[in-house]
Amino acid sequence: MEAAPKGKPQVRIPIYMDHHATTPCDPRVVEAMLPYFGETFGNPASRNHVFGWRAEEAVEAARAQVAALIGANPKEVVFTSGATESDNLMLKGAAARLRERGDHLVTVATEHPAVLDSVSALEGKGFRVTRLPVGKDGLIDAADVARAIEPATILVSVMWANNEIGVLQPIEAIGRVCKERGVLFAVDGAQALAKVPVDVRRAGVDLLALSAHKAYGPKGTGALYVRSGSPRIRLEPQMDGGGHERGFRSGTLAVPGIVGFGAACEIARSEMAEESARILGLRERLRQGILSRVEGVQVNGSLSERLPGNLNLSFECVDGEALLMALRDVAVSSGSACASASPEPSHVILALGVGRDLAHASLRFGLGRGNTEAEVDYVVNLVEEKVRQLRALPSATQGVRRAVQ
Ligand SMILES: *Cc1c(COP(=O)(O)O)cnc(C)c1O
Repeated sequence: MEAAPKGKPQVRIPIYMDHHATTPCDPRVVEAMLPYFGETFGNPASRNHVFGWRAEEAVEAARAQVAALIGANPKEVVFTSGATESDNLMLKGAAARLRERGDHLVTVATEHPAVLDSVSALEGKGFRVTRLPVGKDGLIDAADVARAIEPATILVSVMWANNEIGVLQPIEAIGRVCKERGVLFAVDGAQALAKVPVDVRRAGVDLLALSAHKAYGPKGTGALYVRSGSPRIRLEPQMDGGGHERGFRSGTLAVPGIVGFGAACEIARSEMAEESARILGLRERLRQGILSRVEGVQVNGSLSERLPGNLNLSFECVDGEALLMALRDVAVSSGSACASASPEPSHVILALGVGRDLAHASLRFGLGRGNTEAEVDYVVNLVEEKVRQLRALPSATQGVRRAVQ
């Protein structure tokens, strides 16, 4: 064991600072879910008995809770297994139905793999895709989107909040452009939900992909918001079967997960404003602590247009994997959770124009509901100490690679 960093650790180890990978299920959410594993186990599609009716009632209450958090009508919420499925459904489902109208899609270089790989799959089926580059701050302009739209463009897909650098794209302005040009606007809202205000009508969003486990709900449950009204949105289902969820998504509904998702949204609706302010305070304490005490550190992505809980830093003259190992008492990520099984630097950090070495030496801190000031102070001390130790090693500037984890 190494010596404990200075400043008595008043904290429990390991510390969780990876809330973009997943969030713990809130105990109130777990409480709400429990009856649906037990006595209220019915299938909401069972129309002939009280077991089914009770389950359906619970699902409809959860649908209203999810809808309320995003300013939607409950009828516009389709439950899925998570944001990956919702991204696939909104992109492949819309593209299949709009093929006659056009063959061109617009997205952004820094999107989540669930979006990037879905549009690549569409490319393989003959669609054309424009992947907009981002500025050094990780942002695009609504004007960039307007320029990329062609007569054959059917859909624009832009994430609300980035899962690695936390930047918030100008969704409202892009929504206006899409409406003006008559193009569907699909948004991956997985990281934005329960962290920043999301109002689908105000933002002019047509399709919004959501995930419960990024919002203090359970894993394996998500939703797709599908705007109602005209022009009517048609999606080709990606799952054929019994025609559940108005035919958009067949399969027996995961009632406990859906009830938990609803409860998580209800909590967020009443506590988000206060919680976000507290978490922003922690993030700023972490940022200022590290930047004032460690040299050669840069923040990746816009600081002003950013999720309150996100801090993504690059450390000069330090190997990223070595730093991650040295910080093993703190759960953080290098690059995105999805990309960290490969030693390739994150596509998001590279898209900012950051060099490969600095991209490789990037850490993502994701602060959330359970974090405290004492934990932040502990992490600041630990980062200062470990970076100093690593920089003192003879191999420090060579960026030694090793197998991940
Ligand atoms: C986590 C995440 C997803 C995938 O969500 P799952 O519910 O885990 O499938 C998609 N997009 C973004 C931006 C994410 O952060």
